[in-house]
Amino acid sequence: MASRAATQSLLTTLSLDHPEWRPLLVLVEQTLREMDRAPWTPCVRTRKAYRGDERPLLDGAIITVAPGAIDRWIHRILKTADEAGTEVDPLVIAIEAGQLDPLLFFEAALSQDVDRLDDLARVHDDDRGVVRALAPLIAMPMLQACRKAWAARVPTDWAHGYCPICGGWPALAESRGLDGTRYLRCAACGSGWRTDLLRCHVCGEDDYEKLGSLVAARTLEQHRVDVCDGCQHYLKTITTIAPIRPHDVVLHDLGTLTLDLAALERDYVRPAAAQRVELRVVTKTSRLRDLLGLRS
Ligand SMILES: [Zn+2]
Ligand SMILES: [Zn+2]
Repeated sequence: MASRAATQSLLTTLSLDHPEWRPLLVLVEQTLREMDRAPWTPCVRTRKAYRGDERPLLDGAIITVAPGAIDRWIHRILKTADEAGTEVDPLVIAIEAGQLDPLLFFEAALSQDVDRLDDLARVHDDDRGVVRALAPLIAMPMLQACRKAWAARVPTDWAHGYCPICGGWPALAESRGLDGTRYLRCAACGSGWRTDLLRCHVCGEDDYEKLGSLVAARTLEQHRVDVCDGCQHYLKTITTIAPIRPHDVVLHDLGTLTLDLAALERDYVRPAAAQRVELRVVTKTSRLRDLLGLRS
C-alpha cells in the first residue's frame, strides 16, 4: 500500500509540474493499475540462463495468456487514450474489422520490435505514431510480471548494457547508496543490474577521454547525463539512497525529461531499438484444460 501511495504521489507531482502531459499520465496510471491484475502473472517457459549468457531471458520465451486478457487490455488502453484526446480511430476500426489481431499487436509490443511496430502502423494508417507510443504501455504489465518471475534467473555476472530480462535499453542509471554503486534500470520491465562506473552501456567504450557528463543540479538530488563520444549515446544518472521501485522507473524517466532534452540538444541520442528477441504469445482456454490434456 505504501508503495502504491508513493507511486500516486509521483504521478500527482508530474501532473502538477507538467499539465501538458496529462493525456500521457492518464495512460501511465492506467498501465500501473493494470500491473496488479492477475492475468499477467505469467505462465511462461523459458530456457535456463547460464554464466556468460548474452541473450535476455525473454528471447525464446513462450508466454501463455488467459483467454480474453489481451483483447480486454488493448481495448481498455485504446478507450483511455481516446478519452484523453488521442486519435486512435484507425486502430479501433482495424481491430473491430478483424484486420488487426490484438494478439499480434501485443506480441510486437512485448518484443519491443520497432520494425514490426512500424509495419503495423503503416498497414493500419497510423500516421500519428500512436502504435509506437502505446506499445511500451501495452507491454509493460506483462514485462513487469516476467521480471518478477525471472529475476532470480538473471546471471549474476550479467555485464551487458541491455536488460537481462527483456532486452530493452536502460531508461536511466542509479548511483545508489553512500558508495554510489551504479545500477542500470529498465523502465519496460522494472529490472535493475549492476554495472561498471566508467563504461559506455551501449558500445562498451571505457576510454575516459571519450566519456563525459552533462551535469544538472536539483534541490535534493544530483542528476547528470553520461555521454559517449564513441557512439553518441547518452544515459541519465540519478543519485538514489534506495533502489527505485520497479513500477516507478517509468515515472522517474518521465520526471527527468529535461536531462533528455539537454542531451538531444547536444546531438546525443538513446539507442533506437532494443535487442532482437524471438518470443511467442499463445492463449489457452484454462490451465485445468491444459493440465488434463483436453483440446477444444
Ligand atoms: Zn527490461
Ligand atoms: Zn558508446
